[in-house]
Amino acid sequence: MSPPRGDAVSETILKILLSELASVRLTCQRCKAVAEVPIDVLGDRKQGITCPGCGAVASVGGRHQPDALDALAEAAKGLKQFRGFDVAFVVPVPAPAK
Ligand SMILES: [Zn+2]
Repeated sequence: MSPPRGDAVSETILKILLSELASVRLTCQRCKAVAEVPIDVLGDRKQGITCPGCGAVASVGGRHQPDALDALAEAAKGLKQFRGFDVAFVVPVPAPAK
């Protein structure tokens, strides 16, 4: 896909339908190892996500805060059942350097 020519303000965007969202990728900031968790599994976790590289536990909530990954999974589930509209994420794609 190439952007239209001759329009200085146009941009390329990537639209990702929520229904196409398959997994969430977590990259460990310490060792850079990657864990991919299917979105359907994300909300069914009984415990934290452990880094496959160094064993660090992804901690995205606190003692008195909801787990943000649980909240994301719940939101995705709810929005997939949202009748009448499809929900998409819109991601601007930087133009290639000339
Ligand atoms: Zn790690």
